Amino acid sequence: MKLKNYFKKRDLKKPGEPKPVLKKSKTKNQIFVIHKHYASHLHYDLRLEINGVLKSWAVPKQPPRTKSIKRLAIQVEDHPLEYAKFQGEIPEGMYGAGKVKIWDSGTYELLEKTKDKIEIKLNGKKLKGKYVLIRTNYGSKPKKSWLFFKV
Ligand code: MN
Repeated sequence: MKLKNYFKKRDLKKPGEPKPVLKKSKTKNQIFVIHKHYASHLHYDLRLEINGVLKSWAVPKQPPRTKSIKRLAIQVEDHPLEYAKFQGEIPEGMYGAGKVKIWDSGTYELLEKTKDKIEIKLNGKKLKGKYVLIRTNYGSKPKKSWLFFKV
């Protein structure tokens, strides 16, 4: 089931975060968004529309605008497409409590996708051009660590 872990971690009857309406996937003008998330540790959440959901990674440091900087990106649960427009405050005591702001957004082109590598061309306001996500071998299974960088 799509978004299983998203539902599992939240009580969506309470006001706040978007309630998903599951739709079929698009093939053109996929959206991406990077949230700046002032949780217990400030981080950025990179989200790419893939097959009707937002595949998501938590990036502990600011995503790079230039080549030669590689950022760790930890894959987290898929989020609903509606989350791309979300900004606001996740209440105290809830999963991911803290302020969420859109740091960058736009569309992207999927250039290549395998199990361990995603190559994209971003058309955002801050991030533009070719970027790569590569799964690393760190940690135990399932491998959730990726590297995110501009090429
Ligand atoms: Mn987050």
